[in-house]
Amino acid sequence: MTGPNPTRGLITNVQRFSVHDGPGIRTTVFLKGCPLRCFWCHNPETWRPEPEVQFFPARCVGCGACVQRCPHGVHVLADGCHHLQRELCRACGRCVETCYAEALAVCGRWWEPEELLAELLRDRPFYDQSGGGITLSGGEPLSQPGFCRRLLELCKGAGLHTAIETAAVCTWEDLAALLPWLDLLIVDLKHMDDARHRQATGASNRHVLSNLRRLARADRPLIVRTPVVPGVNDTPEAIADIARFVSQFSNLLYYELMPFHRLAGAKYESLGLPNPADALEAPPREAMEALAQQARDAGVGEVRVG
Ligand code: SF4
Ligand code: SF4
Repeated sequence: MTGPNPTRGLITNVQRFSVHDGPGIRTTVFLKGCPLRCFWCHNPETWRPEPEVQFFPARCVGCGACVQRCPHGVHVLADGCHHLQRELCRACGRCVETCYAEALAVCGRWWEPEELLAELLRDRPFYDQSGGGITLSGGEPLSQPGFCRRLLELCKGAGLHTAIETAAVCTWEDLAALLPWLDLLIVDLKHMDDARHRQATGASNRHVLSNLRRLARADRPLIVRTPVVPGVNDTPEAIADIARFVSQFSNLLYYELMPFHRLAGAKYESLGLPNPADALEAPPREAMEALAQQARDAGVGEVRVG
């Protein structure tokens, strides 16, 4: 395992041909590390700020090759069960190389900013034709502020459109340092009530709200997004509260409601994590549309349902 290095970024995925993370066709870079622990998170593989091994039991044929290959005794095959002693893992990737069934993967790879720029530039013709660009996402990109700044600087130098998806749970200084290199800000806001926010995400919304107030005065277009999660914020009152707040922002392009979905179950299993949202149902389309109307009634000019 390699330790944190401010000149390199730890990335879980470089997703080409994204169409939901800003205008046009984009490449989305998922950075690893997040200070929040939203219990419904769709990307739990981005939580820990270090590489880690993923195990997909449905693909495992029980051949035992990983047991032989791992120098740290992480894999235990006994009584037909495959157990990982994850605390011993160094994310060296040796077991991954030996698993022909592709039941193992190392999540998280360190990239030099220049190397990542070269990868991003591969799709430049698509960005140019569609009005797209690149988006930093996660996890929380601002958990690696130095790397974000360097990468964005390189991207702007290459003439690319740049966006960031952030929960804004960070210092204003870290966020402000990126603004000169950003064309679009996409900020998550989950709840206006601090106690409910803490309960749902493990952290206060204090930084989120104060950063948003400041971003509302920044000379950059802003999109605010709310993941609509049953039992957290799927009520007219919760959405209207957020909508009243964001309706004051003159740089707001639109407010977007994103429905919770249950597609992340296999990711939780692969990381050996419990999935507290396993029993939740995705909000029906009609309920999402009703909440969107609530937000319009509260004063937001344009509301979208993702
Ligand atoms: S090498 Fe792959 S298929 Fe074989 S036991 Fe390990 S995880 Fe399962
Ligand atoms: S990544 Fe390395 S240390 Fe971790 S289980 Fe595989 S071989 Fe063992």
